[in-house]
Amino acid sequence: MDIVWAPWRMAYILGDDHIEGCIFCDKPREERDTENYIVFRGKSCFVILNAFPYNNGHLMVVPYRHCSSLSELEECELSEMMTVSAACERSLKERMQPDGFNLGINLGKVAGAGIESHLHLHLVPRWSGDTNFMPVVGNTKVIPDSLEHTYASLRPVVEAQLRGT
Ligand SMILES: [Zn+2]
Repeated sequence: MDIVWAPWRMAYILGDDHIEGCIFCDKPREERDTENYIVFRGKSCFVILNAFPYNNGHLMVVPYRHCSSLSELEECELSEMMTVSAACERSLKERMQPDGFNLGINLGKVAGAGIESHLHLHLVPRWSGDTNFMPVVGNTKVIPDSLEHTYASLRPVVEAQLRGT
């Protein structure tokens, strides 16, 4: 029998009911970008690795402002979210050569938002055959790379893509 180690799942399974506030507000304020996997900071939004990724390289583009819907954002915030998302797409292509992407925003719990009060855009790279028997039958997702390695690999590329914007 093969064993797949996925130790980061335990933090998710056990949860942490003691975290106050909003992680998307708190993390950029902490000034610990490496520990928090903040890949890039823009003027109105930042890019962070999803700590519980659907796939390798799962990034989120998040406005600093605590807003729950697109309609609350100013035009410059909406514009930067898309510019930064495009740079993330290019960076993931350069580093990971995915065959495609899923981009999505879940507004509201009913739509699947994990943190519904603070808008975030998911960028999930996809590879042919990345949906296999593990998630379909075993309800288990295997992420072949560590968050630390993914972060170290992506951060300089995203920064280079967005330098001067
Ligand atoms: Zn927030």
